[in-house]
Amino acid sequence: MKVDDIGTFNCLPPTAYCPLLSATMSLQTRSKVFGGHMTPNDGGVGETAGDGFRDECGVFGIYGHDDAARLAYLGLYQLQHRGQESCGIVASDGLLRSERAMGLVSEVFDEERLNRLPGTAAIGHTRYSTAGEVSVREAQPFLIACKHGQVAVCHNGNLPFATEERKRLERDGAIFSSTSDTEVILHRIARSRAESVEEAVPEVLCETEGAFSMLFLTPDALIAVRDPRGFRPLALGQLDGAWVVASETCAFDLIGATYVRDVEPGEMIVVTRDGMRSTSPLPERRRSFCVFEHVYFSRPDSMVYGRSVNESRHKMGKRLAVEQPADADLVVPVPDSGVAAAIGYAAESGINFRFGLVRNHYVGRTFIEPKQSIRSFGVRLKLNPVRDLIQGRSVVLIDDSIVRGTTSKKIVRLVREAGAREVHVRISCPPTVSPCYYGVDTPDKEELIAARMSVEEVRRFIEADSLGYLSMEGMLEACGLPFDTSCVACWTGRYPTRISPVAETQYAREREPVPSD
Ligand code: SF4
Repeated sequence: MKVDDIGTFNCLPPTAYCPLLSATMSLQTRSKVFGGHMTPNDGGVGETAGDGFRDECGVFGIYGHDDAARLAYLGLYQLQHRGQESCGIVASDGLLRSERAMGLVSEVFDEERLNRLPGTAAIGHTRYSTAGEVSVREAQPFLIACKHGQVAVCHNGNLPFATEERKRLERDGAIFSSTSDTEVILHRIARSRAESVEEAVPEVLCETEGAFSMLFLTPDALIAVRDPRGFRPLALGQLDGAWVVASETCAFDLIGATYVRDVEPGEMIVVTRDGMRSTSPLPERRRSFCVFEHVYFSRPDSMVYGRSVNESRHKMGKRLAVEQPADADLVVPVPDSGVAAAIGYAAESGINFRFGLVRNHYVGRTFIEPKQSIRSFGVRLKLNPVRDLIQGRSVVLIDDSIVRGTTSKKIVRLVREAGAREVHVRISCPPTVSPCYYGVDTPDKEELIAARMSVEEVRRFIEADSLGYLSMEGMLEACGLPFDTSCVACWTGRYPTRISPVAETQYAREREPVPSD
């Protein structure tokens, strides 16, 4: 891939308080238009990756290691599945320097670029947009200079009230360089009368509703904060005396770091040359861990909320086999996200597990393909049935969700055309009926097939011989997550926070049109 888009805020000296905060950012930015390219899709091929729910973002931070930027690069490499549009790293050797670009981590960062990021501390980000435009201007971390000195931030989550806050700031004369909700937080930190960034961060976040696992970097501190409900994960680890934080523990494995614990909801961790300090400055709220992290978003080799994701998915599959048995010859996963649940289903049911669908790992994401006519080939480009396995057999297909229903229908047709006698579909979570406002890209409610159709109607739409979903109780039990500390809003429509009406309409406006079959 040709890297043709570079955003940099390099060598920005600390300045006095700058009301034209974002003008400073723009002046420091060199950006060109990104040429569309094909990226490998690290998600599944089912609804979740094809035309439904998409990952949010991944964050990584390290303090106290001579190779900070390189370790951040490796950490982001492991978090690539959480966002494939853009990535960036800001590193500190007493001065913050930034490198950001559109594209995958492996494409964006090379030796030369990493050499431009000296220092012993770094934060990094992989982005899939859940709010804001697709442009290098939106790529994180953001780096600014204000009265507190240089501050960089990266964010996994979403702030449902950011649009109102942004309008208020704009009325006061603020200038924004991106459409990101995260930039609102930077503006408020810059305007804070607090003595330092460390004091300004909790002051601003105490008044911020929504989902945020956020990392801040200053010339001499790394700050990690998780919202009081703990929507998105954030893990804390150690490597050779350095502290590391990451969205998922798989980022620790590659660099040889040890997982210590999660950053707790409402906790702020500050790491400086004097060591690590933990405080709980944010108000207590009912915990709302996103259960979809265990169903689909996180990698199976990660620990999320202190639990193995692979174990959760395996148990979901086992429970699905008990709740929704099928008279079939083969259990076939929709790769890759349906694999762990399918193994569990096969183990519990005694039905043979086989890879009856083979995935092409080198096909780009359908959403960046230029024409609707090409898009309709999406599933065929990505999946190919193994005919001699499927021919004449009754197959139970295991997937993690049905979102719009269009991709599931294509997969069922694919398997039937390969000669399957019967196609039974089993889903390892309940019907998805509501959009997410907490950092996950979802279609709006009208496009969610289960929001407007009964299970029987969905079955007819996707042309399956039978269809069964895992129950809410079964899903939560398999994940080891109690109902009253979980967010299950995309299955119930009951949100743990107020939802801004502006966010709701803006959200609906930003969605893609429903693809036609
Ligand atoms: Fe996760 Fe769904 Fe809640 Fe969003 S609405 S945080 S995807 S459980």
